Amino acid sequence: MLRQYELVDRVLAYDPSADEDLLNRAYVFSLQAHGSQLRASGDPYFSHPVEVAGILTDLKLDAETIATAILHDTIEDTVATPEQVTRLFGPKVARLVDGVTKLSKIEGAQTENERAAENLRKFLLAMSDDIRVLLVKLADRLHNMRTLHFIKSPDKRRRIARETMDIYAPLAERIGLYGFMDELQALAFQQLEPEGYDTIVKRLEALRAAGGGDMVARISGGIRDLLAGAGIDADVRGREKRPYSIWRKLQAHRIAFENLPDVIAFRVVVPNVSACYRALGVIHQRWQAVPGRFKDFVSTPKRNGYRSLHTTVMHDKTRIEIQIRTPEMDREAEFGLAAHWAYKEGGDAAGPAPRAYPWLKELLDAVDQAASPEEVLEHTRLAMFQDQVFAFTPKGELIQLPAGACPVDFAYAVHTELGDTCVGAKVNGRVVTLRTPLANGDQVEILRSKAQHPDPAWESFVVSVKARTAVRRFVRQQERAQLLSLGRKLYDETVGRLKLPLSEDAVDTALGRLKLADRNALYLALARQTVGDTALLEAVLPGSTANLKPRRRGRSGTKNAISITGLTPGVAYALADCCHPIPGDRIVGIGRAGRGIEVHSIDCARLADPDGDAGEWLDLHWGDETGGGTARVSAVVHNQPGSLAAMTAILAHHGANIVNLNLTDRDRAFHTYVVDIEVDDLAHLTNIIAALRATKAVVTVERVKA
Ligand code: MN
Repeated sequence: MLRQYELVDRVLAYDPSADEDLLNRAYVFSLQAHGSQLRASGDPYFSHPVEVAGILTDLKLDAETIATAILHDTIEDTVATPEQVTRLFGPKVARLVDGVTKLSKIEGAQTENERAAENLRKFLLAMSDDIRVLLVKLADRLHNMRTLHFIKSPDKRRRIARETMDIYAPLAERIGLYGFMDELQALAFQQLEPEGYDTIVKRLEALRAAGGGDMVARISGGIRDLLAGAGIDADVRGREKRPYSIWRKLQAHRIAFENLPDVIAFRVVVPNVSACYRALGVIHQRWQAVPGRFKDFVSTPKRNGYRSLHTTVMHDKTRIEIQIRTPEMDREAEFGLAAHWAYKEGGDAAGPAPRAYPWLKELLDAVDQAASPEEVLEHTRLAMFQDQVFAFTPKGELIQLPAGACPVDFAYAVHTELGDTCVGAKVNGRVVTLRTPLANGDQVEILRSKAQHPDPAWESFVVSVKARTAVRRFVRQQERAQLLSLGRKLYDETVGRLKLPLSEDAVDTALGRLKLADRNALYLALARQTVGDTALLEAVLPGSTANLKPRRRGRSGTKNAISITGLTPGVAYALADCCHPIPGDRIVGIGRAGRGIEVHSIDCARLADPDGDAGEWLDLHWGDETGGGTARVSAVVHNQPGSLAAMTAILAHHGANIVNLNLTDRDRAFHTYVVDIEVDDLAHLTNIIAALRATKAVVTVERVKA
């Protein structure tokens, strides 16, 4: 374990102005906080944060990051509180420590498939407001992997290795930390594929023995001498390819190990870019190049910013891979962003900023222009996932949602049925409303009820397509259900007039005559008034309407069963379509040439219309034999399932036949229906309106007289 003064000296070696006192206090605080805790290795637990800090000194990180590394497990694993850390080490370090603590949430999260793994990686990036948080987390994982073999449970070792392979190694690659990536992959590979690892290591040993044992050193020396002879000062390092990269090549190309080309590779570091190309020329003159293996990542860097010249040549009978690069490219290849950051201050004569992912590029540009890179990094948010939010299920599954998502979105993202039945949510253990916006890292538990159904009001606050679509679909289904129920009532009422039992065959025949597919189609047609009751009766029993007791038809204003006194016998008349007079209303008649008498309610708006072609007014009265009339009412109901059914139930209960129903206006909260109903008289209608007004589902009811 690194001693206190060793760690401080390491930091001071690359940053003489580092806050020595901060490092010392962090060291002592963490030592005391972890107390007698032990690692699986039997070492004091405290050795872990100190080693993590040590790893980060290799990246030459600032004192705040090193202090964060020393403190990174104190909140999670000891009695230390965030308040204590803030008080003792200031808000900056406290925020970094808090960031690292939050990232530990994903440990144990599910990574069964690639999508889950990608979600977790995005989550880590989204949570790492400050890139230093991610660097500490990766160093933490690296040290845990180095000590993985001490963990006794094979299942646990495998889980951690899997997570490392799926989440942390790709993340290290994404931010350009290739040294970390290589080591994480190597350690995870060893755990996940022990046989494959052993086989490859043994083959490499055999190869080494066959090559005389010092093949790498001999070839390295040869390349160095060759370049020196051409006046190029080169640092040549040879290495065997890592077992994991050989394994991947074997898998990708389905080839046997014996046939695997170039298992040794050499890195040639020369002073500048022009020396790179000169060295390449010299090497190609001396050894035959393998066709198709030359790649120029200097003029065309990889998307992650990687730059180098790659070639493969035949050295005696061995294929060797050679990468040629400048010292700056070499550091970038090893440490990525961190390399750029660490060396920038040192007045290194390196070239332009490395090409990188666009978001990294942005970050690096900001660093370039800033007086103090630390300041920029501290205030730079990783903006890439700001339009998304990541939340966990109680089982630890990570759900990715659009920013602004609420528990309803979350529920639908998990499962449609969960969304349909959600009534509330607990976020991080606290009950919240369904419209509460979720924050990154929230743990969300959905409370559900079998009696619940999607609420049209949800549409005003859900943000995900899935939730919105589900709510709309449900509302449409509900409307259909209500229309079916209304249509069924109209059917029963109409066919009931025939007063004879109907066979299924008779109904099928009627459906055929009406050109309708099934009973539901008939109910919908009746509810929508595309099939009227006369048409229905004629379809069921042709000729039947002639034998039935004549009924008034409200809309057409036929004279049947209406008696009006005050008219000259034989004069044609019709009840007006505008005010729908019913017995009990005071009525007047207007004579119109060639069209008989129009009967209006005395307070009809049309009568007051000065532009109306007002003819002669006749004072009329309802006769004793009048059977009733058709009134029009306008009802505003709450936009919720069951409202229409509640309204029609009341009408049915009061014996009022619905002859027409229109949805005339709808918004989020309310639906407005205009209904024509057959009533006995004004008293009957007044009762019905009173009953409707007393219904919870109904907001207002008015009679329409114009
Ligand atoms: Mn740790």
